[in-house]
Amino acid sequence: MSWEQPAPELGSGERPNAAGMGLPGLKALVAGLGESPFRAGQLYQGLYRMRWTEWSAFTNLSKALRSRLEREVRLHWPAIQDSAPSQDGSTKHAFLLEDGAQVEGVHMPYGSRTTLCLSSQVGCAMGCTFCATGLMGIKRNLTPGEIAGQVVTMLNAHGHGPDEGVNLVFMGMGEPLHNLDHVMAAFALLTDPAGLNISPRRITLSTSGLVTGIQRLGGFKPRPRLALSLNATTDAYRSSIMPVNRAWNLEALARALDAFPLESGERITLEYVLLRGVTDALEDGRRLADFARRFPSKVNLIPFNPHEGSGFEPPTEARVGELCALLASRGVTVSVRRSRGQDVAGACGQLVKGANL
Ligand code: SAH
Ligand code: SF4
Repeated sequence: MSWEQPAPELGSGERPNAAGMGLPGLKALVAGLGESPFRAGQLYQGLYRMRWTEWSAFTNLSKALRSRLEREVRLHWPAIQDSAPSQDGSTKHAFLLEDGAQVEGVHMPYGSRTTLCLSSQVGCAMGCTFCATGLMGIKRNLTPGEIAGQVVTMLNAHGHGPDEGVNLVFMGMGEPLHNLDHVMAAFALLTDPAGLNISPRRITLSTSGLVTGIQRLGGFKPRPRLALSLNATTDAYRSSIMPVNRAWNLEALARALDAFPLESGERITLEYVLLRGVTDALEDGRRLADFARRFPSKVNLIPFNPHEGSGFEPPTEARVGELCALLASRGVTVSVRRSRGQDVAGACGQLVKGANL
Protein backbone atom coordinates (compact mmCIF):
# COMPACT_ATOMS: atom_id res chain seq x y z
CA MET A 1 0.00 0.00 0.00
CA SER A 2 1.44 3.32 -0.97
CA TRP A 3 -0.31 5.45 1.59
CA GLU A 4 0.88 5.70 5.16
CA GLN A 5 -0.01 8.27 7.74
CA PRO A 6 2.92 10.68 8.23
CA ALA A 7 5.19 9.64 11.08
CA PRO A 8 3.96 11.30 14.26
CA GLU A 9 6.07 14.02 15.72
CA LEU A 10 6.19 13.46 19.41
CA GLY A 11 7.04 16.50 21.42
CA SER A 12 5.84 18.87 18.69
CA GLY A 13 3.03 20.06 20.92
CA GLU A 14 0.23 18.32 19.09
CA ARG A 15 -0.49 14.80 20.28
CA PRO A 16 -0.66 12.33 17.37
CA ASN A 17 -3.77 10.18 16.93
CA ALA A 18 -3.03 6.44 16.92
CA ALA A 19 -6.48 5.56 15.59
CA GLY A 20 -6.03 4.88 11.88
CA MET A 21 -2.25 4.37 11.92
CA GLY A 22 -0.88 1.31 10.16
CA LEU A 23 1.97 -0.77 11.53
CA PRO A 24 4.71 1.53 10.11
CA GLY A 25 3.12 4.56 11.80
CA LEU A 26 2.77 2.70 15.08
CA LYS A 27 6.42 1.57 14.83
CA ALA A 28 7.51 5.17 14.45
CA LEU A 29 5.29 6.08 17.36
CA VAL A 30 6.77 3.53 19.75
CA ALA A 31 10.30 4.40 18.56
CA GLY A 32 9.56 8.02 19.44
CA LEU A 33 8.51 6.90 22.89
CA GLY A 34 11.75 4.95 23.27
CA GLU A 35 9.86 1.67 23.53
CA SER A 36 10.84 -1.61 21.95
CA PRO A 37 9.46 -2.21 18.42
CA PHE A 38 7.26 -5.19 19.36
CA ARG A 39 5.01 -2.80 21.24
CA ALA A 40 3.79 -1.59 17.84
CA GLY A 41 2.25 -5.01 17.18
CA GLN A 42 0.53 -4.92 20.55
CA LEU A 43 -0.88 -1.49 19.83
CA TYR A 44 -2.06 -2.70 16.42
CA GLN A 45 -3.74 -5.71 17.98
CA GLY A 46 -5.48 -3.58 20.61
CA LEU A 47 -6.66 -1.02 18.06
CA TYR A 48 -7.89 -3.23 15.22
CA ARG A 49 -8.32 -6.75 16.59
CA MET A 50 -9.72 -5.94 20.02
CA ARG A 51 -11.15 -2.56 18.96
CA TRP A 52 -10.27 -1.00 22.30
CA THR A 53 -11.13 2.67 22.36
CA GLU A 54 -9.30 3.89 25.47
CA TRP A 55 -5.68 3.47 26.50
CA SER A 56 -6.80 2.15 29.89
CA ALA A 57 -8.26 -0.89 28.08
CA PHE A 58 -4.85 -1.89 26.64
CA THR A 59 -4.16 -4.57 29.23
CA ASN A 60 -1.55 -6.08 26.88
CA LEU A 61 0.75 -3.15 27.76
CA SER A 62 2.47 -2.22 30.99
CA LYS A 63 0.70 0.25 33.23
CA ALA A 64 3.58 2.67 32.84
CA LEU A 65 3.28 2.64 29.04
CA ARG A 66 -0.49 3.04 29.22
CA SER A 67 -0.24 6.16 31.30
CA ARG A 68 2.46 7.52 28.98
CA LEU A 69 0.19 6.94 25.99
CA GLU A 70 -2.63 8.59 27.90
CA ARG A 71 -0.54 11.75 28.18
CA GLU A 72 1.20 11.81 24.82
CA VAL A 73 -0.93 10.05 22.21
CA ARG A 74 -4.60 10.44 21.34
CA LEU A 75 -6.92 7.55 20.58
CA HIS A 76 -9.76 9.19 18.74
CA TRP A 77 -12.27 7.43 16.51
CA PRO A 78 -15.28 9.14 14.90
CA ALA A 79 -17.88 9.45 17.65
CA ILE A 80 -21.57 8.73 17.25
CA GLN A 81 -23.35 12.02 17.73
CA ASP A 82 -26.82 10.93 16.81
CA SER A 83 -28.52 7.66 15.87
CA ALA A 84 -31.77 7.15 14.01
CA PRO A 85 -33.12 3.60 14.18
CA SER A 86 -35.44 2.69 11.32
CA GLN A 87 -38.42 0.32 11.38
CA ASP A 88 -36.61 -2.00 9.00
CA GLY A 89 -33.94 -2.74 11.63
CA SER A 90 -31.22 -0.49 10.26
CA THR A 91 -29.72 2.41 12.19
CA LYS A 92 -28.39 5.58 10.63
CA HIS A 93 -25.55 7.11 12.63
CA ALA A 94 -24.26 10.66 12.42
CA PHE A 95 -20.53 10.69 13.21
CA LEU A 96 -18.88 13.73 14.66
CA LEU A 97 -15.31 14.22 13.44
CA GLU A 98 -12.57 16.02 15.31
CA ASP A 99 -12.90 19.21 13.27
CA GLY A 100 -16.63 19.35 13.91
CA ALA A 101 -17.60 17.96 10.47
CA GLN A 102 -20.25 15.27 10.28
CA VAL A 103 -20.68 12.20 8.10
CA GLU A 104 -23.19 9.37 8.02
CA GLY A 105 -22.85 5.62 8.39
CA VAL A 106 -25.61 3.02 8.40
CA HIS A 107 -25.77 -0.30 10.27
CA MET A 108 -28.03 -2.77 8.44
CA PRO A 109 -28.49 -6.15 10.15
CA TYR A 110 -30.37 -8.13 7.51
CA GLY A 111 -30.57 -11.88 7.27
CA SER A 112 -27.47 -13.73 8.30
CA ARG A 113 -25.11 -10.83 7.71
CA THR A 114 -24.78 -7.22 8.70
CA THR A 115 -23.91 -4.60 6.13
CA LEU A 116 -22.28 -1.33 7.09
CA CYS A 117 -22.63 1.63 4.75
CA LEU A 118 -19.65 4.01 4.93
CA SER A 119 -18.82 7.56 3.92
CA SER A 120 -15.59 8.47 2.16
CA GLN A 121 -15.81 12.28 2.08
CA VAL A 122 -17.52 15.13 3.91
CA GLY A 123 -19.95 16.09 1.16
CA CYS A 124 -19.28 15.31 -2.49
CA ALA A 125 -18.03 17.23 -5.50
CA MET A 126 -19.94 15.30 -8.15
CA GLY A 127 -23.14 17.32 -7.98
CA CYS A 128 -25.68 14.65 -8.94
CA THR A 129 -28.98 16.49 -8.92
CA PHE A 130 -31.04 13.77 -7.17
CA CYS A 131 -28.60 13.30 -4.28
CA ALA A 132 -28.75 15.16 -0.95
CA THR A 133 -24.98 14.84 -0.48
CA GLY A 134 -24.39 16.22 -3.96
CA LEU A 135 -26.35 19.33 -3.07
CA MET A 136 -24.02 20.15 -0.17
CA GLY A 137 -20.83 20.25 -2.24
CA ILE A 138 -17.44 18.94 -1.10
CA LYS A 139 -15.96 19.92 2.26
CA ARG A 140 -12.99 17.54 2.52
CA ASN A 141 -11.73 13.98 2.17
CA LEU A 142 -11.96 11.63 5.13
CA THR A 143 -8.69 10.27 6.51
CA PRO A 144 -8.04 6.49 6.57
CA GLY A 145 -8.73 6.57 10.31
CA GLU A 146 -12.04 8.32 9.82
CA ILE A 147 -13.07 5.76 7.21
CA ALA A 148 -11.98 2.63 9.13
CA GLY A 149 -13.19 4.32 12.32
CA GLN A 150 -16.81 4.30 11.15
CA VAL A 151 -16.51 0.50 11.06
CA VAL A 152 -14.80 0.27 14.47
CA THR A 153 -17.39 2.54 16.07
CA MET A 154 -20.41 0.81 14.51
CA LEU A 155 -19.12 -2.70 15.32
CA ASN A 156 -18.55 -1.63 18.93
CA ALA A 157 -21.88 0.18 19.21
CA HIS A 158 -23.79 -2.85 17.97
CA GLY A 159 -21.78 -5.42 19.95
CA HIS A 160 -20.26 -7.39 17.07
CA GLY A 161 -17.59 -9.99 17.87
CA PRO A 162 -14.07 -9.75 16.32
CA ASP A 163 -14.61 -12.31 13.55
CA GLU A 164 -18.29 -11.85 12.86
CA GLY A 165 -18.48 -11.43 9.09
CA VAL A 166 -19.82 -8.12 7.90
CA ASN A 167 -20.26 -6.54 4.47
CA LEU A 168 -19.04 -3.02 3.85
CA VAL A 169 -20.36 -0.74 1.14
CA PHE A 170 -18.95 2.66 0.25
CA MET A 171 -22.38 4.05 -0.51
CA GLY A 172 -22.63 6.79 2.10
CA MET A 173 -21.44 10.35 1.60
CA GLY A 174 -18.82 11.08 -0.99
CA GLU A 175 -17.25 9.74 -4.18
CA PRO A 176 -14.75 7.09 -3.01
CA LEU A 177 -12.73 7.24 -6.24
CA HIS A 178 -12.06 10.91 -5.47
CA ASN A 179 -10.37 9.80 -2.26
CA LEU A 180 -8.94 6.50 -3.41
CA ASP A 181 -5.61 6.68 -1.54
CA HIS A 182 -7.32 7.06 1.82
CA VAL A 183 -10.04 4.55 0.95
CA MET A 184 -7.39 1.95 0.04
CA ALA A 185 -5.35 2.70 3.20
CA ALA A 186 -8.55 2.09 5.22
CA PHE A 187 -9.21 -1.02 3.10
CA ALA A 188 -5.78 -2.39 4.15
CA LEU A 189 -6.63 -1.91 7.83
CA LEU A 190 -10.11 -3.34 7.40
CA THR A 191 -9.02 -6.48 5.56
CA ASP A 192 -5.83 -7.35 7.48
CA PRO A 193 -6.37 -10.80 9.06
CA ALA A 194 -4.35 -9.57 12.06
CA GLY A 195 -6.72 -6.64 12.39
CA LEU A 196 -10.38 -6.20 11.52
CA ASN A 197 -10.20 -9.24 9.24
CA ILE A 198 -13.03 -8.33 6.86
CA SER A 199 -12.89 -10.24 3.57
CA PRO A 200 -12.04 -8.03 0.55
CA ARG A 201 -14.86 -9.83 -1.29
CA ARG A 202 -17.34 -8.43 1.17
CA ILE A 203 -16.36 -4.82 0.54
CA THR A 204 -17.99 -2.91 -2.31
CA LEU A 205 -16.97 0.49 -3.59
CA SER A 206 -19.66 2.44 -5.41
CA THR A 207 -18.70 5.14 -7.89
CA SER A 208 -20.55 7.64 -10.02
CA GLY A 209 -18.26 6.69 -12.91
CA LEU A 210 -14.80 8.29 -12.77
CA VAL A 211 -13.13 6.28 -15.50
CA THR A 212 -9.55 7.09 -14.48
CA GLY A 213 -10.40 6.04 -10.91
CA ILE A 214 -11.99 2.80 -12.12
CA GLN A 215 -8.83 2.04 -14.09
CA ARG A 216 -6.66 2.75 -11.03
CA LEU A 217 -8.83 0.62 -8.78
CA GLY A 218 -8.47 -2.29 -11.22
CA GLY A 219 -4.71 -2.28 -10.55
CA PHE A 220 -5.00 -2.96 -6.80
CA LYS A 221 -4.78 -6.49 -5.48
CA PRO A 222 -6.69 -7.19 -3.33
CA ARG A 223 -9.31 -4.57 -3.99
CA PRO A 224 -12.96 -3.97 -3.17
CA ARG A 225 -15.71 -5.08 -5.54
CA LEU A 226 -17.01 -2.45 -7.90
CA ALA A 227 -20.48 -0.94 -8.15
CA LEU A 228 -21.34 1.71 -10.69
CA SER A 229 -24.17 4.21 -10.23
CA LEU A 230 -25.55 4.15 -13.75
CA ASN A 231 -28.90 5.83 -13.06
CA ALA A 232 -29.76 6.69 -16.67
CA THR A 233 -29.52 5.01 -20.07
CA THR A 234 -29.00 7.87 -22.49
CA ASP A 235 -26.15 10.38 -22.44
CA ALA A 236 -28.61 13.27 -22.57
CA TYR A 237 -30.45 12.16 -19.43
CA ARG A 238 -27.36 10.97 -17.61
CA SER A 239 -25.52 14.24 -18.26
CA SER A 240 -28.52 16.20 -17.00
CA ILE A 241 -28.64 14.41 -13.62
CA MET A 242 -24.96 13.37 -13.27
CA PRO A 243 -22.46 16.00 -14.47
CA VAL A 244 -19.67 13.37 -14.46
CA ASN A 245 -21.26 11.96 -17.63
CA ARG A 246 -20.02 15.00 -19.55
CA ALA A 247 -16.45 13.89 -18.86
CA TRP A 248 -17.01 10.13 -19.36
CA ASN A 249 -20.13 9.14 -21.25
CA LEU A 250 -21.94 5.81 -21.30
CA GLU A 251 -19.73 4.35 -24.01
CA ALA A 252 -16.53 5.33 -22.15
CA LEU A 253 -17.99 3.78 -19.00
CA ALA A 254 -19.02 0.53 -20.69
CA ARG A 255 -15.51 0.17 -22.10
CA ALA A 256 -13.87 0.84 -18.73
CA LEU A 257 -16.15 -1.70 -17.04
CA ASP A 258 -15.54 -4.25 -19.76
CA ALA A 259 -11.78 -3.80 -19.28
CA PHE A 260 -11.99 -4.03 -15.47
CA PRO A 261 -10.08 -7.18 -14.42
CA LEU A 262 -12.64 -9.40 -12.66
CA GLU A 263 -11.96 -12.52 -10.63
CA SER A 264 -13.78 -15.64 -11.69
CA GLY A 265 -17.43 -15.41 -10.67
CA GLU A 266 -17.11 -11.73 -9.81
CA ARG A 267 -19.66 -9.31 -11.24
CA ILE A 268 -19.97 -5.55 -11.37
CA THR A 269 -23.07 -4.16 -9.69
CA LEU A 270 -25.01 -1.58 -11.68
CA GLU A 271 -27.00 0.66 -9.37
CA TYR A 272 -29.94 2.31 -11.02
CA VAL A 273 -31.93 4.96 -9.15
CA LEU A 274 -35.49 5.07 -10.43
CA LEU A 275 -36.80 8.63 -10.79
CA ARG A 276 -40.45 8.75 -11.79
CA GLY A 277 -40.91 10.05 -15.31
CA VAL A 278 -37.17 10.66 -15.73
CA THR A 279 -35.33 7.32 -15.66
CA ASP A 280 -38.08 4.72 -15.20
CA ALA A 281 -39.49 4.24 -18.72
CA LEU A 282 -39.73 0.70 -20.06
CA GLU A 283 -37.45 1.88 -22.85
CA ASP A 284 -34.87 2.65 -20.13
CA GLY A 285 -35.24 -0.92 -18.94
CA ARG A 286 -34.44 -2.23 -22.42
CA ARG A 287 -31.37 -0.01 -22.76
CA LEU A 288 -30.29 -0.91 -19.22
CA ALA A 289 -30.45 -4.61 -20.13
CA ASP A 290 -28.30 -3.96 -23.23
CA PHE A 291 -25.73 -2.08 -21.12
CA ALA A 292 -25.70 -4.75 -18.40
CA ARG A 293 -25.06 -7.56 -20.88
CA ARG A 294 -21.81 -6.05 -22.13
CA PHE A 295 -19.82 -7.43 -19.14
CA PRO A 296 -20.50 -9.68 -16.10
CA SER A 297 -22.93 -7.66 -14.03
CA LYS A 298 -26.00 -7.59 -11.83
CA VAL A 299 -28.48 -4.75 -11.60
CA ASN A 300 -29.74 -3.18 -8.40
CA LEU A 301 -32.83 -1.02 -8.90
CA ILE A 302 -33.12 1.71 -6.26
CA PRO A 303 -36.48 3.47 -5.97
CA PHE A 304 -35.66 7.15 -5.39
CA ASN A 305 -35.54 8.10 -1.72
CA PRO A 306 -37.25 11.50 -1.60
CA HIS A 307 -35.64 14.42 0.22
CA GLU A 308 -36.61 18.03 0.50
CA GLY A 309 -35.95 20.26 -2.46
CA SER A 310 -34.92 17.50 -4.87
CA GLY A 311 -37.87 17.92 -7.23
CA PHE A 312 -37.88 14.16 -8.04
CA GLU A 313 -40.38 11.49 -7.12
CA PRO A 314 -40.10 7.74 -6.59
CA PRO A 315 -41.51 5.38 -9.23
CA THR A 316 -44.77 3.53 -8.75
CA GLU A 317 -44.52 0.03 -7.29
CA ALA A 318 -46.06 -1.31 -10.47
CA ARG A 319 -43.30 0.25 -12.58
CA VAL A 320 -40.58 -1.15 -10.32
CA GLY A 321 -42.10 -4.58 -10.83
CA GLU A 322 -42.37 -4.13 -14.59
CA LEU A 323 -38.74 -3.05 -14.92
CA CYS A 324 -37.60 -5.86 -12.70
CA ALA A 325 -39.45 -8.43 -14.78
CA LEU A 326 -38.26 -6.88 -18.03
CA LEU A 327 -34.62 -7.13 -16.96
CA ALA A 328 -35.05 -10.66 -15.68
CA SER A 329 -36.71 -11.71 -18.93
CA ARG A 330 -33.62 -10.47 -20.77
CA GLY A 331 -31.31 -12.62 -18.68
CA VAL A 332 -30.14 -9.87 -16.34
CA THR A 333 -29.77 -10.65 -12.61
CA VAL A 334 -31.78 -7.98 -10.85
CA SER A 335 -32.68 -7.01 -7.29
CA VAL A 336 -34.57 -4.09 -5.80
CA ARG A 337 -33.21 -2.06 -2.90
CA ARG A 338 -36.00 -1.43 -0.44
CA SER A 339 -35.91 1.46 2.03
CA ARG A 340 -32.50 2.18 3.50
CA GLY A 341 -30.13 -0.11 1.73
CA GLN A 342 -32.13 -3.29 1.94
CA ASP A 343 -31.99 -5.61 -1.03
CA VAL A 344 -34.95 -7.88 -1.54
CA ALA A 345 -34.08 -10.12 -4.42
CA GLY A 346 -37.50 -11.76 -4.42
CA ALA A 347 -39.42 -8.53 -4.66
CA CYS A 348 -39.85 -8.60 -8.43
CA GLY A 349 -41.97 -11.70 -8.61
CA GLN A 350 -44.74 -10.27 -6.47
CA LEU A 351 -45.17 -7.27 -8.69
CA VAL A 352 -45.05 -8.56 -12.23
CA LYS A 353 -48.57 -9.83 -12.64
CA GLY A 354 -50.18 -8.23 -15.61
CA ALA A 355 -47.08 -6.29 -16.55
CA ASN A 356 -47.01 -5.52 -20.23
CA LEU A 357 -43.41 -5.95 -21.34
N1 SAH B 1 -20.76 8.53 -4.68
C1 SAH B 1 -20.91 7.15 -4.88
C2 SAH B 1 -21.33 6.40 -3.63
C3 SAH B 1 -22.33 7.09 -2.74
S1 SAH B 1 -23.95 7.31 -3.39
C4 SAH B 1 -21.90 6.87 -5.99
O1 SAH B 1 -22.55 7.79 -6.45
O2 SAH B 1 -21.98 5.72 -6.42
C5 SAH B 1 -24.60 5.67 -3.20
C6 SAH B 1 -25.80 5.36 -4.09
O3 SAH B 1 -26.95 6.10 -3.67
C7 SAH B 1 -25.58 5.72 -5.54
O4 SAH B 1 -25.93 4.63 -6.37
C8 SAH B 1 -26.55 6.88 -5.78
O5 SAH B 1 -26.95 6.89 -7.11
C9 SAH B 1 -27.65 6.56 -4.79
N2 SAH B 1 -28.48 7.70 -4.40
C10 SAH B 1 -28.10 8.96 -4.17
N3 SAH B 1 -29.16 9.71 -3.79
C11 SAH B 1 -30.24 8.89 -3.77
C12 SAH B 1 -31.61 9.06 -3.44
N4 SAH B 1 -32.08 10.23 -3.05
N5 SAH B 1 -32.42 7.98 -3.53
C13 SAH B 1 -31.94 6.77 -3.89
N6 SAH B 1 -30.64 6.56 -4.18
C14 SAH B 1 -29.79 7.59 -4.14
FE1 SF4 C 1 -24.29 11.69 -4.43
FE2 SF4 C 1 -22.68 9.70 -5.25
FE3 SF4 C 1 -23.40 11.68 -6.94
FE4 SF4 C 1 -21.75 12.19 -4.91
S1 SF4 C 1 -21.36 10.87 -6.67
S2 SF4 C 1 -23.45 13.46 -5.58
S3 SF4 C 1 -22.56 10.86 -3.31
S4 SF4 C 1 -24.75 10.12 -5.99
